[in-house]
Amino acid sequence: MTAPETLARQVTERIELLAPQLTALSRMIHELAEPGFAEHRSVAAIAELVTAHGIEARVGVHGMETSLKACAGDPAGPRIAILAEYDALPGIGHGCGHNVIGAAAAGAFLGLLDVIGRTGGSVVLLGTPAEENGSGKEIMARAGAFAGIDAAIMLHPANCDDIHFAALGLRSVEATYHGIPAHASARPEAGRNALDAVVAAYQGVAALRQHMPQTDRVHGVITAGGEAANIVPARASLRLLIRSPRLDSLLALSERVQRILSGAALITETRLDAVWDRIQPCLPVRGNDALSTRFGVHMAARGRTSGAPQSAQGSTDLGNISLRVPAIHPTLAIAPPEIALHTVAFAGYAGSERGDRAVVDGAVILALTALDFLADAGLRERSRLEFEAAGGVVDVPALLTPPGGQPGTSEGS
Ligand SMILES: [Zn+2]
Ligand SMILES: [Zn+2]
Repeated sequence: MTAPETLARQVTERIELLAPQLTALSRMIHELAEPGFAEHRSVAAIAELVTAHGIEARVGVHGMETSLKACAGDPAGPRIAILAEYDALPGIGHGCGHNVIGAAAAGAFLGLLDVIGRTGGSVVLLGTPAEENGSGKEIMARAGAFAGIDAAIMLHPANCDDIHFAALGLRSVEATYHGIPAHASARPEAGRNALDAVVAAYQGVAALRQHMPQTDRVHGVITAGGEAANIVPARASLRLLIRSPRLDSLLALSERVQRILSGAALITETRLDAVWDRIQPCLPVRGNDALSTRFGVHMAARGRTSGAPQSAQGSTDLGNISLRVPAIHPTLAIAPPEIALHTVAFAGYAGSERGDRAVVDGAVILALTALDFLADAGLRERSRLEFEAAGGVVDVPALLTPPGGQPGTSEGS
């Protein structure tokens, strides 16, 4: 059973009425273009809109200054979270279109206010900052933001409508090698070359690429390589990103990279200092067909058809949440297929009429999906059973110990 038609119609009508406020909010966040951890005015704008509708919106909850939380309904019943992002990319503004996510999520929450008393249960609007280069959702999850939540839903603007969104898990490592400085010509035998270690590690990763699954990625940059050509470099470093579509394969690939880093220290007689996960990792997204199918039904009603599943390319911190509660991260098209995310061109679409349309469509689709979840015990049960069958709740912090078992070399952010 899905939500009664009358409630669904009421939700849709409320959101259509709110459309000018929602698109104004989206445009304002787009204009502000505040990067992660600094989204002060963006989150204030969302809080102001929610407060104007008589609901308390708390800013700065669950371990982050620019997070937001607003709740409506009966906390005793089932509880669904609608996630809002609003951080921009340094240099190119809303090239990932998070202004659309923030405004659509706020709209979905407000759209449910009239009916939440009749569905039972509650809805939580959770503002999750610093998705880009910050994995804010992992920080918030560790601070208890998802305790008591039965499902988490969000959407992301993209160049296609897609309910089967897949994302690669992503970890990072900063490897610094410490050698011994020496006159590079007069006494080279006294030195140990940290740059050689970095080069050996970089080449080792290049060799690894031939023999890893085609779905996996390792890429990086050398961040320090010595100061003067006539001194044996005593310190050199590189930064690597490691991506894989599954949790087990991500962990296995991390171990292989760690062995290469250690091997480079061994052959150059330098000391390795490897800091894993300085930024909290993004884990692969575990889908939930029960929820995404409902999202797809409401998407189709807005004239949007999901395409065939695409291979995973990017990464998102929603993956970390999807290992804690049933979660979905479908996409809505705001740009043609040839326009890639994280570009100035995509930022243009995020602040255009197509972005505005996705705000309103997205708010309706999210709200109706949440309505189904609250009104339909069968859907709740199916999404939960599917989540359990896929491995259930994962203890993410325990899982993310640094590869190679070197204690004290990993720092959280
Ligand atoms: Zn992005
Ligand atoms: Zn994004």
